[in-house]
Amino acid sequence: MMRRTYRLDDVVQMKKKHPCGNDSWVVMRVGADFRIKCTGCGRVVMLPRAKFEKSVKRIVSSRYGLPESGQAATDSKEHADSPEPTDDSGSTGG
Ligand SMILES: [Zn+2]
Repeated sequence: MMRRTYRLDDVVQMKKKHPCGNDSWVVMRVGADFRIKCTGCGRVVMLPRAKFEKSVKRIVSSRYGLPESGQAATDSKEHADSPEPTDDSGSTGG
């Protein structure tokens, strides 16, 4: 599985829209916790990396260049790409 890398100032699209109707966020801080800012209303939220990675649909733009080379943004066809990060380590019944 290829791990995506997020950097500062990356613009990401979230699966879920913000109540303001916007779904693009700017990465303000990376690490164990991510801080992102809504490009629509400016709301800043902080969430753990695992949650962030699950919430991100795709990277819209990056000043460092997108990890995937090649421009494919014409059709709105759903790309068969859904790498689900495996987390939840520590749910042992006992
Ligand atoms: Zn917003």
